[in-house]
Amino acid sequence: MIMFNIDKNIEKALDALTLKGRLSHAVLISGGSCQLREKLALYLARFTVCGSEIEKPCEKCEDCRKSRDNVHPDIYFFKKRSDRRYYRKEDIQAFCEGVYRTPNEANVKPLVIYELQDMNEEGQNLLLGILEEPPSYSSFILTASSKNVVLPTVLSRVTKLDLGQERAEHKMESRSVKIAGSIAQAILSPDEFDIIKASSELDKNKQLFSDVLYELVLIFRDALLKSYERGERISFAQQEANDLSASLTKKQLMALYDTASRMLEQIDFNKNKLLMSASLAAELRQAV
Ligand SMILES: [Zn+2]
Repeated sequence: MIMFNIDKNIEKALDALTLKGRLSHAVLISGGSCQLREKLALYLARFTVCGSEIEKPCEKCEDCRKSRDNVHPDIYFFKKRSDRRYYRKEDIQAFCEGVYRTPNEANVKPLVIYELQDMNEEGQNLLLGILEEPPSYSSFILTASSKNVVLPTVLSRVTKLDLGQERAEHKMESRSVKIAGSIAQAILSPDEFDIIKASSELDKNKQLFSDVLYELVLIFRDALLKSYERGERISFAQQEANDLSASLTKKQLMALYDTASRMLEQIDFNKNKLLMSASLAAELRQAV
């Protein structure tokens, strides 16, 4: 077995997953770091196509050679487009159709679907359709930042490998998280200009604007979940999410969440549209 720098319990769980020489038809790798999830997903895909009876991946067979060189025709990696924040519906539909094509060389066809936090509910429901009626040769390997970003109906169809919480210090420091946190605080301030002040840096930097909106979506989501006392929190500004949750109604929180999501979609969809911090401030104010 390839050595991963993972703790003993996860290693045991991984061993259990691959014990009978065959993976269950769908596995979800959640938690940990993005890099580790990707590594483990690749490992499981390579494990699946290897023809050896003894140790997989054997690194000797033709399937292993091809999977190592990243040219195996039966391993499929499905990722969202790099220029998009979320998976596109038409890409998911095309993927789902491709699932029913039989494998070329191996007996099993591993389909790796990355990072379900980037797939909205509609997309995950499309995915659910194929998880419910998978072809016999398919083996789905899904990854997600957390189990909580995956629909319960999808969760019920997969074997789970949870890597636990990632150490998040480096992300705490990031600029977009800090700005999003100050904007979230400013929403509660009586001074109208506080949101504009907190978001003044954004006009110069579209990528930063998009990142900040993404963090805001997470903060509003967490605040909303907290007010329902449900779900795991995933934003990096927990204090701000708690404060919003304590001061605003569920309806206001929902309006904030919708506003930030809509603006995020706009900024991602239309790269050239100039989104101004002033309009962000106005829309957030209007939501509450
Ligand atoms: Zn092999």
